Amino acid sequence: MAAIREHAPAGRVLLICHVNPDGDALGSMLGFGLGLRRMGVSQVQATFPGEFEVPEPFVALPGMDLLVPEPQAYPDPDLVIVFDVAAESRLGGLVDRLAPAKAAVVLDHHASNTGFGGINLVDAEAAATSVVAEELLSRLGVPLDAGIAECLYVALATDTGSFKFDMTTPRVHEMAARLIATGIRPGDISRRIFDTRPFGAMKLFAEVLARAALDPTAAGGHGMVWTHVTQADLERHGQRPYVMDALIDPVRTVAEADVAVLVKQLGEAEWAVSLRSKGAVDVSAVAVAMGGGGHRLAAGFTGYGTPGDVVVAVREKLDQFLI
Ligand code: AMP
Ligand code: MN
Ligand code: MN
Repeated sequence: MAAIREHAPAGRVLLICHVNPDGDALGSMLGFGLGLRRMGVSQVQATFPGEFEVPEPFVALPGMDLLVPEPQAYPDPDLVIVFDVAAESRLGGLVDRLAPAKAAVVLDHHASNTGFGGINLVDAEAAATSVVAEELLSRLGVPLDAGIAECLYVALATDTGSFKFDMTTPRVHEMAARLIATGIRPGDISRRIFDTRPFGAMKLFAEVLARAALDPTAAGGHGMVWTHVTQADLERHGQRPYVMDALIDPVRTVAEADVAVLVKQLGEAEWAVSLRSKGAVDVSAVAVAMGGGGHRLAAGFTGYGTPGDVVVAVREKLDQFLI
């Protein structure tokens, strides 16, 4: 907090969230950025590594004007604040902004956080990074307004799966109550971020779900269900990559499997792998062993080869961690 009070008011502040940003990454970052503005900080930029594409559900978030593409981000910021990033590898090329800064503060909630920041505000009990962000804003004396609240609400709703996951604690609902009290409309927000997608995305979902496979004997008999989605699938249906992320939700409903796996094509032989567990298996252990990270019930990593290769590797790691 002292670092923020000392360097933010007069300096250049760069906010960074993880590659392929989700609702928590963007929401906690933009909500905090709007809060800094309310504190009177005039030089604030927000960014994320890689292609400058904000997933459609998040393009209407307040504070979007804070966002700049990676190449335009201050090369030598005075203060860097990082959101929802468990390891430096998730910062891509932006990792080089940390060293020149007078302070690098990390706000996160991953138990696997490596502590790469100078100041690490990591709360593994927090349901979302936006919980940590709201606490810090409160300690800085920044009152919530509807813009800040909408960003933090989107983050909270995303990471709790619409307030359905295990970490939906009293603390989560108390925070949601504070956010909603600013006048934001949860129904409109949920429809926009969870329940709206193009017709082509629905057709794509149908194909990807039709190719899902189930092995109830995998993961020590807890069962595993998996499917994959390729760039060609996206092109055939005229869809952007972000639509792939929502596919894990129908896959993880399968009753016969504790573990759900979605393999999403990034490049020729490169795949973003989403892992989910209903509780019998710690998928973050598998993800960390594969060079990724995440939480016990939701984790991910980058895999290589064919989708079949990736699935075999996950099965082997699951067996290893069950013993
Ligand atoms: P996802 O399946 O992309 O929704 O990610 C689920 C969780 O795993 C999130 O908490 C991510 O932060 C984490 N995660 C996903 N992919 C990676 C990765 N390549 N490296 C580290 N953590 C990841
Ligand atoms: Mn995230
Ligand atoms: Mn998060």
